[in-house]
Amino acid sequence: MALLQMRFLPDPILRTQAKKISKIPSAFPKFTDDMVETMIHEHGVGLAANQIGSLEKVCVIQLPDWEEAIVLINPEITDREGEVELEEGCLSLPGYRGVTLRSEKVRVKAMGLDGKTMKIQAEGLFSQALQHETDHLNGIVYIDQLVSKDEFYKIEFDDEGNAEYVQVNQDSALS
Ligand SMILES: [Zn+2]
Repeated sequence: MALLQMRFLPDPILRTQAKKISKIPSAFPKFTDDMVETMIHEHGVGLAANQIGSLEKVCVIQLPDWEEAIVLINPEITDREGEVELEEGCLSLPGYRGVTLRSEKVRVKAMGLDGKTMKIQAEGLFSQALQHETDHLNGIVYIDQLVSKDEFYKIEFDDEGNAEYVQVNQDSALS
């Protein structure tokens, strides 16, 4: 396995829609294994292909209490229920957090590495990760849908190493 090169905002590939996969490329599953390794190395719970410079429509997710990651090819949200404001960050914009409006529960249809269709029902962190990663594959980053421009923070550390959230202007983070 190998670590892949991360892409960061304002890299335009993060604003580009990924292409639907009709036939699973022969580079899989090595490629998706490398995505998983990169996600774990970066301490993330999810990673979409745009974030490592690919426009294949694939993402990986591994929540903290999972033993293995899942690979989702062509993930699509088919149903949403409820609304909830959640704090969120992104490996492609390190050091920042923002508050977004997410659906509480989602249903997702995707293809696995075996080519079979899977249907997922999720809530909590899994639901949030599914929405975050499918957004990525559609060229959308979480800062595009903050509940308000004011709900955006830079994480700074004081002399004792304690993290604090400093409210910042969204545009300043991207320049
Ligand atoms: Zn992200």
